Amino acid sequence: MKVNDFKSLRDLHEYYAIHNKCGLRKTATQPVYECSIPSSGIVFIGEAPGVNEDKTGEPFIGKAGKLLDELLDSISFSRNDVYVTNVVKYRPPQNRDPLPEEKSACRIWLNAELLFLKPKVIVPLGRHALERFVPDGRISASHGQILEHRSGIPIFAMYHPAAALYNPDLVEELLKDFKRLKMFLEGKIKIKESPPQRDRTFSKEKQILIDDLTSL
Ligand code: URA
Repeated sequence: MKVNDFKSLRDLHEYYAIHNKCGLRKTATQPVYECSIPSSGIVFIGEAPGVNEDKTGEPFIGKAGKLLDELLDSISFSRNDVYVTNVVKYRPPQNRDPLPEEKSACRIWLNAELLFLKPKVIVPLGRHALERFVPDGRISASHGQILEHRSGIPIFAMYHPAAALYNPDLVEELLKDFKRLKMFLEGKIKIKESPPQRDRTFSKEKQILIDDLTSL
């Protein structure tokens, strides 16, 4: 199935909700995704749905989602202005970290979603989303920076809002990073050409990652 064959984002999600081999399907209530396309071109990518998202099918509606809303509000954006998705589309049991095989099973879905959306900027929230674009990247070193990516889409890494629920110092960092994101969108900050800790060694997995994003 080619991305251009989907008439709407909803069609795309409904297709991948059937055509995916993610093991989390067995334990989750339903896949979690959103279907409206915001005009801002900003795509936030979290880790995996939690209990509230699993119940409703909507991403980021629990405590982390409320904090995300407050952070958006701090730069005069609302949830309707941005698109929010996750690395894996199903809730892992007891909210454990998604396993490598679960992330890889949902990978084609996220790729298709990004190809369909053609984001102006991708904001990975936390390490699971960051590693999708910057292998071996570390949030503590990369957050708040605009990283270059082979797809041509700027990657603006941030801490996951859930991390700030446990470590309130991170709220300050997030507020600063949201301000920087706004400045970037206004053209006041330029892209950093050599991202820190970019792993330049070759591996088949990394090459696949690059290949499937260059057409974005
Ligand atoms: N955390 C995430 O990463 N995604 C959600 O949808 C909710 C919480």
